[in-house]
Amino acid sequence: MKIAVLIGDGMGDYPLQELGGKTPLQAAAIPNMRAIAAAGTVRLVNTIPAGMSPGSDVANLSIMGFDPRKYYTGRAPIEAAGAGIVMGPRDIAFRCNLIAVEAERIKDHSSGHITTEEARPMIAALNERLGKPGLAFHVSAGYRHLLIWENGPGELMTIPPHDVLGQPAAKNLPTGARQDEVRHLMEASKPILAAHPVNAARRKAGKTVPTQIWLWGQGRRTTLPAYRDLFGLTGSVISAVDLVRGIGKLTGLNAETVPGATGFLDTNYAGKVKAALNALDHDDFVFVHVEAPDECGHMGDLKLKLKAIETFDREVVGPIWRSLEAMRQPYRLIIATDHRTPVAVRNHTAEPVPVAVLNGPVSNTGLPSRSAMAKHGREAPFDEFVNGGQASGMAFEWLKTQIGN
Ligand SMILES: [Zn+2]
Repeated sequence: MKIAVLIGDGMGDYPLQELGGKTPLQAAAIPNMRAIAAAGTVRLVNTIPAGMSPGSDVANLSIMGFDPRKYYTGRAPIEAAGAGIVMGPRDIAFRCNLIAVEAERIKDHSSGHITTEEARPMIAALNERLGKPGLAFHVSAGYRHLLIWENGPGELMTIPPHDVLGQPAAKNLPTGARQDEVRHLMEASKPILAAHPVNAARRKAGKTVPTQIWLWGQGRRTTLPAYRDLFGLTGSVISAVDLVRGIGKLTGLNAETVPGATGFLDTNYAGKVKAALNALDHDDFVFVHVEAPDECGHMGDLKLKLKAIETFDREVVGPIWRSLEAMRQPYRLIIATDHRTPVAVRNHTAEPVPVAVLNGPVSNTGLPSRSAMAKHGREAPFDEFVNGGQASGMAFEWLKTQIGN
């Protein structure tokens, strides 16, 4: 059986007055997801174990079938795996954001979604001036980069910059053992970025300018059991972000980079769909992750978030579903979100999230939406449980029942 898991990152939200008391998932024009929910089953699952912070790292581990309490050592080591960096036993990986601080407050964790092409020479400049044997910056994607630090400080408290938007930078610096070494790197990045020609160009174009690096999410390397052993599955992870591709690589799945996948609204949807279908051609499992709804949640932009959810439905869910149907063989299609990123909160929250499962094929006509739509119309809910709904367990336990052998 072919299994496809499609994740719209951070699609979950809260009911909003602007939407007449509906959540963005309830209000959005998402005919494919509604039809899938109608023809299949929907339930709520918890992706964040009690006491853990609701990051995409913990949430995606969960929704890929791994208990974060057992396997999570930090965000950056997973991203390092995604970037193809082999960590040594004494290495500490840090996430290294290019961030914008204005009037001493954290204005933007993404520096106006700076591109990888722009970031590359900046990371090179940081390496030239701050790098040394055992301490190197690595380019990842957009504003998200990495620092690998042999015998680096691992036992300190760091704060994700997207958690403290608008707050004073000085109050959110790393604290704990060897904090000064980490703070020093962040401070030393300021003049290097200020003088960088890429920043001059961005300033001239009226774009947000990265003013410094922000180090967080540190940890030692981690290992995951192989998907083949756990679930008897081989396949691929399709995502723009190193975090999700990192989980894939750590568990032995293919996780090739899709050209033009940006982790934002302008991502190469067709390329991702093509890569997903290609993967299903020779393997049985694919996990497709789209980052954009989460970023729009962090921006607090409801209109943009609705657009991101609708684009995910139209450009990813629809084409993959139609292709699965066209294969005329048994498949299981799972649509989910890893966590909520409510636009009113501009951050992740830990409440349970909706998941929809459809066992197909559901139609002999090759037009799957027809029968489902006839049954439920456009009103079929995907996010119906959001108002005080109870979760039916942890995502990683639930996933085992869906894709286990
Ligand atoms: Zn996420």
